[in-house]
Amino acid sequence: MTDAQLNVILLGAPGAGKGTQAERIVAKFGLPHISTGEMLRAAVAQGTDMGLAAQKFMESGGLVPDEVVIGVVRDRLAEPDAQNGFLLDGFPRTIEQAERLDAMLAEAGRAVSHVILIDVPEDELVQRLAGRRMCRGCGKGYHVVFDPPKAKGICDVCGSELYQRTDDNEETVRHRLEVYRAQTEPLVGYYEGHGVLQSAYGGGKLPDDVFAQVQALLAGG
Ligand code: AMP
Repeated sequence: MTDAQLNVILLGAPGAGKGTQAERIVAKFGLPHISTGEMLRAAVAQGTDMGLAAQKFMESGGLVPDEVVIGVVRDRLAEPDAQNGFLLDGFPRTIEQAERLDAMLAEAGRAVSHVILIDVPEDELVQRLAGRRMCRGCGKGYHVVFDPPKAKGICDVCGSELYQRTDDNEETVRHRLEVYRAQTEPLVGYYEGHGVLQSAYGGGKLPDDVFAQVQALLAGG
């Protein structure tokens, strides 16, 4: 019965388009979108204890400690809407997080069903991140050149102001990419070993073209 669940992880470097693909996957497959980055940014904006603890790591482009993030994901996966499938975006980012996720799912007789790696060349990642803008209201992502809003600085969907993430400046971006290579890329081998890794090529492609690949991977098993 749990075999049919879509328990999906989106894997990829910062700027690979995980959030953009997540929007489409959620709309098509009706999965709850669980983005640790978004949850952490909300905690920072609300000034919670966790937000205050996470903020300095996020602003430097480093990773928030595993214990903090794992706790956030554990609570979120316990919510009713995550019992029949989920889409994780930005988690896990370390082998420790992946092992702990496997253990928490196994306790409930569940397992990760699909890990989709979105593969984009490094130069393109930097270019994408530098032009990225986010909506303060609904969190929708834009790009000033590749995916601009209809009215400059205003979200098409909810009309709120767009902003640039503090960690999307070039120096922090370089650091985030280094952190990805060192700490997160080893997950490719980890999930290959578990027989659940699949790849979509995202370099030079429009979001809908990438989504066509992603959709085929999710629909195909
Ligand atoms: P993202 O929106 O996924 O790019 O995440 C933004 C920032 O939040 C990252 O650069 C990290 O500082 C922090 N973060 C998000 N997810 C995680 C995670 N799984 N583990 C550690 N830190 C995370």
